[in-house]
Amino acid sequence: MVTKNIASDQKVKAMSLVEVRTFIEHLAKENPDAKSELNYTSPYTLLVAVVLSAQATDASVNKATEKLFKVASTPSEIVALGEEGVAQYINSIGLWRAKSRNVVALSTQLLEQHDGNVPGERQALEALPGVGRKTANVVLNIAFNQSTMAVDTHIFRLGNRTGLALGKDVLAVEKALVRRIPKDLLRDSHHWLILHGRYICKARKPECWRCPATIVCHYPNKNLG
Ligand code: SF4
Repeated sequence: MVTKNIASDQKVKAMSLVEVRTFIEHLAKENPDAKSELNYTSPYTLLVAVVLSAQATDASVNKATEKLFKVASTPSEIVALGEEGVAQYINSIGLWRAKSRNVVALSTQLLEQHDGNVPGERQALEALPGVGRKTANVVLNIAFNQSTMAVDTHIFRLGNRTGLALGKDVLAVEKALVRRIPKDLLRDSHHWLILHGRYICKARKPECWRCPATIVCHYPNKNLG
């Protein structure tokens, strides 16, 4: 069903740059203090939370990390806890075995190569076990104030459905968004778009009747209730 929607969405005409600005400004006005729904207290706990959030809801990750971070919230504490120890706290989340392994391995690498600190460069982040481009983009955006765009399933759908940024894969949509969104709005757009896709512009039935950006959206099958 999602594939069908995206395929048809790709026929949507791209928004003009003026429309892109208007679209983002409407989302911003509706939700000026948008931020990540993952709980974290440092760049390191943010990194771990984002790694754990792959194919899992933020709520399920927060439930697990609430207990985990009380016991271990630094690379050395996670390494001391070990894979089995980490697994005890995160085994309610999908892919928990691989994630336990990656969290311990990336913590070891941070200690060995970065003095236990999270690096603020894409290349170094993506060299960490379990960290791909999307995770690096989230960490660079939130912890290092960089204007990156992490394209998840919601943003990929939203870009193609609305005409905001068309692309056949997540990298194409990411590049189009970075190119098209005005620089002064780019950093926070990551949050505005994720939350909009998660709660309003939903996969099966977008809730267009309560969307603040209907006027500039190019989606031809708006669900106006
Ligand atoms: S009008 Fe509908 S399809 Fe367009 S952005 Fe809003 S919720 Fe999504």
